[in-house]
Amino acid sequence: MKNNPSSNETDLRKEINRALADFQDGIKCSCGNNIWVLGSASVGNNCFTCITGESFPIDDYEIDAAVKKSESKKGRRHIDEIDPAKIAGFFDDDGYEINTDLVKKPSICLTCINDDNPNEEMLCTMTRYDQKDDKKFQCFAYEKKTN
Ligand SMILES: [Zn+2]
Repeated sequence: MKNNPSSNETDLRKEINRALADFQDGIKCSCGNNIWVLGSASVGNNCFTCITGESFPIDDYEIDAAVKKSESKKGRRHIDEIDPAKIAGFFDDDGYEINTDLVKKPSICLTCINDDNPNEEMLCTMTRYDQKDDKKFQCFAYEKKTN
């Protein structure tokens, strides 16, 4: 709380929650950058650069929830940044590229005839990605392998 010696702590906490909610709503600084939640709590919604004049917040100066949101997009390309001739693979609903290596393969897939079929690979990956948060995996293309 050393950056805000005059604020009373309860108000500050309220302001941090407000700034975090704004951040999660995708509210940006007037310059277009993500807002800096901790700083925005005391001076209004602005990014780290506009508030401090320095380039990037070190993690200690941002709260976890805000850092995590940025991390989940780190290293992932947005579909708008990719040369349309080179678009391949999968993108989530926000337009971010999906790393298919991170999509778990359910054990049932290992017994399916489509598992060895490269032509089915894309469909299989999409089915898995769609259900990645579901408890039970279901696949209508499943056909048991015969040995
Ligand atoms: Zn800014």
